[in-house]
Amino acid sequence: MEAFSIRGVSKVYGGSTPTETLSDIHLTIQDGEFLSILGPSGCGKSTLLEILAGLQLPTSGEVWFGGEKLKGTGIERGVVFQDPSLYPWRTIYKNVELGLEFRGIPKKERREAAQRYLDLVGLRGFEHKYPHHLSGGMKQRAGIARALANSPEVLLMDEPFGAVDHLTRLQLQDDLLKIWEAEKKTVVFVTHDVSEAVFLGDRVVLLSPRPGRINQIFQVSKPRP
Ligand code: ADP
Ligand code: ADP
Repeated sequence: MEAFSIRGVSKVYGGSTPTETLSDIHLTIQDGEFLSILGPSGCGKSTLLEILAGLQLPTSGEVWFGGEKLKGTGIERGVVFQDPSLYPWRTIYKNVELGLEFRGIPKKERREAAQRYLDLVGLRGFEHKYPHHLSGGMKQRAGIARALANSPEVLLMDEPFGAVDHLTRLQLQDDLLKIWEAEKKTVVFVTHDVSEAVFLGDRVVLLSPRPGRINQIFQVSKPRP
């Protein structure tokens, strides 16, 4: 089964000198795969991810998800950015359950989901803390729990570990793989870090700079438990 089908997607940002950021991208993302999108800063990785998230529309081309054409809204996507932007006045628990609250999910279910994902990301015991009590890596874990609590069909991650120290980053990478194996979700992971892309991805897509187009796709062969 395929999750995303990206068909001839281009993106031109307007302004006084319109620039083409993505140029004729064709890519199929399989259901359940871990795909890394690798490329230098400015090559359009975030733009591509935002298009997949429905936060932006392509200038031309189409994106299909599970047999339906994306029109800017629709599927439930969990998005994790470099800055987890947790609400500072809400506890970690309250941050994680917020999306469920918006959707009118009953309290008991919200509680179960929030607790389950806080456990999964290793934040048991931190439910009552506020974001400023947590380290960068822990905030990022909370952001991942929040994304997962909404039961998204895919997890879209944009340099989620870009702002944490190196050792924490390695730990988070390990843990993300465990989460991915437990949840069996499609993950699209954007990074400019070669080793991160290769360590995490089943497949790595290489975007070339200016204008971003797919230069190469390679399969990573690695043992999986
Ligand atoms: P990456 O994630 O690979 O660093 P981005 O998708 O963030 O790349 O940006 C690619 C290019 O598109 C950059 O040159 C950036 O300046 C431009 N760009 C990104 N977002 C916008 C926007 N909202 N308006 C105009 N230009 C943008
Ligand atoms: P409200 O009545 O405002 O909806 P809740 O009973 O949902 O409040 O939560 C109040 C506080 O209790 C929250 O800030 C949260 O930190 C904590 N809390 C609620 N449920 C749990 C839980 N299952 N695990 C940990 N903390 C919880």
